[in-house]
Amino acid sequence: MPEALPDPLRAEGVLFDLDGVLTPTAEVHMRAWKVVFDDVFERWGITPAYTDADYFDYVDGKKRYDGVASLLHSRNVEVPWGAVDDPPEAETICGIGNRKNAAFAQSLRAEGIAPYPGSLALVEKLSAAGVPLGVVSSSKNAEEVLGTAGIRSFFRIVVDGVVAERENLASKPSADMFRAGAVALGVDPAHSIAVEDATSGAASAAAAGFAIVVGVDRGAGADALRDAGATVVVDDLDVFLSDSAGSAGQADSTPQATSSDDQETA
Ligand SMILES: [Mg+2]
Repeated sequence: MPEALPDPLRAEGVLFDLDGVLTPTAEVHMRAWKVVFDDVFERWGITPAYTDADYFDYVDGKKRYDGVASLLHSRNVEVPWGAVDDPPEAETICGIGNRKNAAFAQSLRAEGIAPYPGSLALVEKLSAAGVPLGVVSSSKNAEEVLGTAGIRSFFRIVVDGVVAERENLASKPSADMFRAGAVALGVDPAHSIAVEDATSGAASAAAAGFAIVVGVDRGAGADALRDAGATVVVDDLDVFLSDSAGSAGQADSTPQATSSDDQETA
């Protein structure tokens, strides 16, 4: 029995996480983390080896240094925190985080990034209808990723890792980030929608009082997203493109109201 889908056109505002929701940057992040942690684990003899499951359990959706600390803590490894301006070679939480960021930036510049077709189509549809849109991302690379993907202009506000540091917002799963996003966009969370692919992000949105938290399952798992606070879980945002979305649940055979250069995603 398909879940009934909310109608994002009727929301007061919609706040999107970035990595893994709008752009497949999670893959770029995952590759960068693996390069860094494989090296650290091997040199320090840390076991068990770093896996993609560790990414989802300890790193995904958190601020960079919190992710490093959380993962190392899971292996009972204590490392000095260091400082945000530690060089990438420094064997500190911050140094390891900065090393990962350098690997990420290098990959982004070399390969570029394109938004998920379903996400782009939904953002275009909501934007054309005048629904206020914002981005709530833990990443300090959010502006660069949005610009590289060519979608920055759709969003009235961006609350990212840079804003979080400046305004002292706690890392997801704290309510801080999504609460700040709603305030910046000028919308009431009780009448708005948050879209997240990470359990920490779904928990943040739920704690911030969002009536509807859409979990996009890119690997975290539908059950884990629901347990964290997602009120509905989808595989891709293209399910919201159907005219019947909001009343009839999943759209398989209904005509799709999409942009002119329609892409076959089914
Ligand atoms: Mg994400």
